[in-house]
Amino acid sequence: MSSALTDEERLLQATAREFAQREVAPGAIERDEAERYDRSLLAAMGALGLTAAPFPASVGGAGFSYLGWTLVMEELGAADMAMAVSLSVHILSQYPVVTWGTDEQRARWLPAMQAGDALGAFALTEPHAGSDAAAIRTRAERVGPVDAPEAYRLTGTKIWISNAPEAERYLVFATVDPDAGAAGITAFLVEREAPGFRFGAHERKMGIRGCPAAELVFEGCEVPVGNRLGAEGDGYRIALSALGEGRISIAAACVGLARAGLEAAAGYLGERQAFGGPLSDQQGLRFMLAEMARDVAAARALTREAASAKDRGEPLAEVSSLAKWTASDTAMRVATDAVQLFGGSGYSRETGVERLMRDAKGAQIYEGTNQIHREIVAGEILRRVGASGS
Ligand SMILES: Cc1cc2nc3c(=O)[nH]c(=O)nc-3n(C[C@H](O)[C@H](O)[C@H](O)COP(=O)(O)OP(=O)(O)OC[C@H]3O[C@@H](n4cnc5c(N)ncnc54)[C@H](O)[C@@H]3O)c2cc1C
Repeated sequence: MSSALTDEERLLQATAREFAQREVAPGAIERDEAERYDRSLLAAMGALGLTAAPFPASVGGAGFSYLGWTLVMEELGAADMAMAVSLSVHILSQYPVVTWGTDEQRARWLPAMQAGDALGAFALTEPHAGSDAAAIRTRAERVGPVDAPEAYRLTGTKIWISNAPEAERYLVFATVDPDAGAAGITAFLVEREAPGFRFGAHERKMGIRGCPAAELVFEGCEVPVGNRLGAEGDGYRIALSALGEGRISIAAACVGLARAGLEAAAGYLGERQAFGGPLSDQQGLRFMLAEMARDVAAARALTREAASAKDRGEPLAEVSSLAKWTASDTAMRVATDAVQLFGGSGYSRETGVERLMRDAKGAQIYEGTNQIHREIVAGEILRRVGASGS
């Protein structure tokens, strides 16, 4: 499956694998149990250039291809999905600044994030608006003249914000006109110390427990106009374009998680003795392994196709939805089968296989639920044939 990779991409893959297995995998079970985010891993990823990986050198990035970035995410997902998601969100929160930011915003916002010194978060979801993101209610009221505001005052609550409260930098979506739907949504750069901004409840999650998530509460938080990203009303497009890229990254992490489940299950079947030989002699179980391998390979191929489409500058909506939906369903199915193949040991928290199953579930929900991805794919197909419907 890696025949299309360049020498540089293979080197990146080998470096990421070595780092992920040496530094990230060993503590994954402990971090999950303790719901602990390990800041030292962010610093280590910064030192390797992973916190700036997919951005061009012209904006301070490491300049990897997006295909190269998916190789990194696969390795991190195989080691610890929580760290993979945390890094993916960190990159997701920088994308809009790279593509929509002014030179001044990039210079002020990106270097510390790209170095791994400041962690980023992407704040869209609200208590009453997840899939229906255009319905967000966090309000951005202009301070100063309507046509030349000096600042905005943010009021509202965000939930499920990954990397909070650890993160220093928040990309926050709010509306300047609650009656305008998507057309009112505007993006803002908000620092952790901004007056009027505090953290609410910590999200008590089923999986990826080493990646923190929390509520954000804005109580008249004043944000200077220089922290508005793009124009008023650009926010929805900014969010969608960033998510189109982020979904490929999550898909790659899911491929890694599924690969880890497959490899763990294969190792266990080879060792476990029953009925006069290793379980790997049982054809029914060999067939399960083969089907898991088939699904991992198919999800990887689709994910790499999506990454290559991004590298070629092609539209991403359909292919990134297909990749994220396929890879997260694959991760869930393969992790569930891995637990089954481990028998009672798979159900124990000691082996780490049940963690894969819990970690995989979230990926069917965040970065667009897999129902929403079906909607996106169907919409794109219907639009292509000129039958977009209601
Ligand atoms: C682990 C985790 C991390 C997250 N991190 C972040 C983050 O960093 N930043 C952020 O902003 N958000 C984050 N989220 C929030 C996430 O994006 C939302 O949970 C997700 O978009 C779904 O929204 P919802 O929970 O409000 O569910 P709802 O939108 O209420 O959906 C409920 C159910 O109905 C289905 N559904 C809804 N509308 C339709 C429709 N039109 N057609 C068919 N089915 C539909 C959904 O698929 C789902 O099954 C995270 C969530 C999780 C679980």
